[in-house]
Amino acid sequence: MELKAIRGFSDILPPATSRWRLLEECARKILEGYGFSEIRVPILEKAELFARSIGEETDIVEKEMYTFEDRNGDCITMRPEATASVVRAYIEHKLYAADPVVKLFSIGPMFRHERPQKGRHRQFHQINVEVFGISHSMIDAEVMAIVMDYLSLVGAGGCQLQINSLGCPRCRLPYKEGLWTFLNKHLSQLCEDCRRRMERNPLRVFDCKVPGCQEIITEAPLISDYLCPPCAEHFAAVRGYLETLEIAYEVNPRMVRGLDYYTKTAFEVVAGGLGAQNAVAAGGRYDHLVAALGGPDIPGIGFAIGMERLLLILPDKPFSPGPSLFIAALGEGPQREALGLSHKLNRARVRTMIDYEGRSLKAQMRRADKFGARYVLIIGEDEQRAGQAILRDMEEKKQEEIPLPSIFEEIVRRMGEGSP
Ligand code: ATP
Ligand code: MG
Repeated sequence: MELKAIRGFSDILPPATSRWRLLEECARKILEGYGFSEIRVPILEKAELFARSIGEETDIVEKEMYTFEDRNGDCITMRPEATASVVRAYIEHKLYAADPVVKLFSIGPMFRHERPQKGRHRQFHQINVEVFGISHSMIDAEVMAIVMDYLSLVGAGGCQLQINSLGCPRCRLPYKEGLWTFLNKHLSQLCEDCRRRMERNPLRVFDCKVPGCQEIITEAPLISDYLCPPCAEHFAAVRGYLETLEIAYEVNPRMVRGLDYYTKTAFEVVAGGLGAQNAVAAGGRYDHLVAALGGPDIPGIGFAIGMERLLLILPDKPFSPGPSLFIAALGEGPQREALGLSHKLNRARVRTMIDYEGRSLKAQMRRADKFGARYVLIIGEDEQRAGQAILRDMEEKKQEEIPLPSIFEEIVRRMGEGSP
């Protein structure tokens, strides 16, 4: 039997791993600048956590979770998203005790049993950001500015921000009733799933991908017509702050997001060219989630960026970790010299590679080329005896002789961190 990775689970191979790391490092840098700290939460949680936060009627909980009984008979789920776990940790460790305002981010894999396709995997990765304790609409706009900032910094500046308000439980109740009445009039045209959804949470009909249902939904009443005055004011203020921050956006009144915990602001960042998987990032406010999971009444807002989808829209330019050196050594003595020098150089953060098999100069030069080396240092037995080595600049196609005793300083000067 051939052993292969499970469907929907991918290996991330070099050189792609360098691009992944670059995206992660960039996220850390930006987020730490905005006052966020990293949190790492477990991959496994009690299944109940997600049912109680994401919502029983959602596609995620209903169809997509990896849930199983562990050896103790406990019902366990592989996290399908991070917010629920971060909120659990925020409550469990009373992170609100000193100050309810806490800004956290985490980066890691999520698991959903969906049909694998381009931009949709069963194990995928998110950069996840949460802000607790701020109800002011300024933070909604700022959080969206952070996403857009990050995306343009990594080279995905062409994305579009779509926003909506989902109201609060107070305005959502009459909206759900209005929506139910509308759907009830079109009952015969709805798919079986939607007829069931409609009774438990009519909002979830918006998530349906069946073309017939989508058609009906375009005629459905909109939440914007039902917003209570505080929710409407909040939404108007968020839009105003987005304008202050010069963040372009579009209001999408039919975007409801596939999770029940959102209140007021919801947003998605979409990119062209991804087909149905066009959402690169998504998030929203969750003012009642902390309380719903047993914590104090503290509001929250957050988002997640899908890393696989982000990589799909980034230009495919090769990742360059900086210049590197290849030492081509010919003969036993020079090889020993090369080994010591390469170790010293790598410790000084100069990327250096050597050959181990005593190949011909021609073969070693080919290897240097494959490695993309900017410089090649050639040490032969004659050179070693004369106390010299040849440093060849592969880009400028120039070479010069350098005395062996000063070779380390000479290379660090040219290639070390901080050199041009
Ligand atoms: P979609 O509508 O595409 O299913 P979603 O609304 O289920 O997305 P969220 O739960 O909001 O997605 O997750 C946030 C982001 O995580 C998405 O915008 C997307 O970039 C990414 N994402 C979600 N599910 C997957 C998946 N199965 N494979 C790859 N990326 C995903
Ligand atoms: Mg989904």
